[in-house]
Amino acid sequence: MKKSEKHPKNEDLVERLLECEKDLEDYRNDLQSWTDSLRELSVIKDAFAIRENDRLDGKTILDIGTDCVKPLYIALKFEPKKIIGINEGFFSMGSEIEAQSKLLTRTKLSFYDCSFFDEETFRKIREKEGIDKFDFILLSKTLLHLRTGECVNEEHKKNRECPKDEKSCIYGFEPDKIFKDLFRHGRRIIVYEFFDPNEEDDDKVRGRGGYLTKNEWNDIFKEISQKYAVNFIIPQKFNLKQKRPEEIDSMLKKQELLCFYVEET
Ligand SMILES: [Zn+2]
Repeated sequence: MKKSEKHPKNEDLVERLLECEKDLEDYRNDLQSWTDSLRELSVIKDAFAIRENDRLDGKTILDIGTDCVKPLYIALKFEPKKIIGINEGFFSMGSEIEAQSKLLTRTKLSFYDCSFFDEETFRKIREKEGIDKFDFILLSKTLLHLRTGECVNEEHKKNRECPKDEKSCIYGFEPDKIFKDLFRHGRRIIVYEFFDPNEEDDDKVRGRGGYLTKNEWNDIFKEISQKYAVNFIIPQKFNLKQKRPEEIDSMLKKQELLCFYVEET
C-alpha cells in the first residue's frame, strides 16, 4: 500500500475522488433542504388553513429566515397572492425559484437579503411590494434567532463588555417585544421550532442562539397566552388557554417539535 500511495497518479486520483465526494455532499445538502422543507410544510400547512381545503386567495405571507423552498411549496398548494421571503442572513438561492415559479403558480414570490431587525430595508421592501400588514408571518426554525435582549454571558457581564466577535455572546430572548413587533406586521404568526427540553443552550454558536431553552419557552408561553390566542398543531391540536401549565409541561417533555399559531384576540 505504501508504495502505491507515493505513486503520483494515485495521488491525483485520490484528490479527484475527494473533490467528487465534496460535490456529492453539496448535492446531498441541496436535496436535503428540499426534503426538509417538504416535511416541515406537511405540518405547517394546518396552521395556514384551519379547515380542510381552505384556500389562501388574495392573502399575503412573510417568511422570516426563509429557505426559499417552502414558499414555492406554499405557492403551489395554496396560491396566495404574494409571499415575501427575507433571509435573516441565511439562504440566498431565491432568485432562480423566484423566476421559475412564474411558470407554475400565480403567487408572486419575492426574496430579499434582509433581516427582520433591519427596519429601514424592511420598510422599503413593504413599500415596494405594497403591503402594509401581512396576513401570515411564518417563522420556521427562526424564532430562536430573533434575540434582542442584552448579552447574558456571565463572563461578558463581569467585564461589562462583549468581545467584537459575537460568537460567545448569548443575547436574551424578549417575548413581549418580539411578538409586539411581529403583530405590527402580521395578523397570524406561525411558529415551527425544534424543542429541546434543556435548561441551558450548550449549542450556542453565536449571539442569536442555537435553540430556545426550556425557561425561554416557559416565558414565551406565559407571555403569549396572556395576550393572544394560541393554537397548537404539534404535539396535538389544542388551545393554550385551555391547558394547565403542568399539562403543557408533561406534553412537551416527550416532544422534539412544536408548531403553533398566534393571533390577536
Ligand atoms: Zn457578549
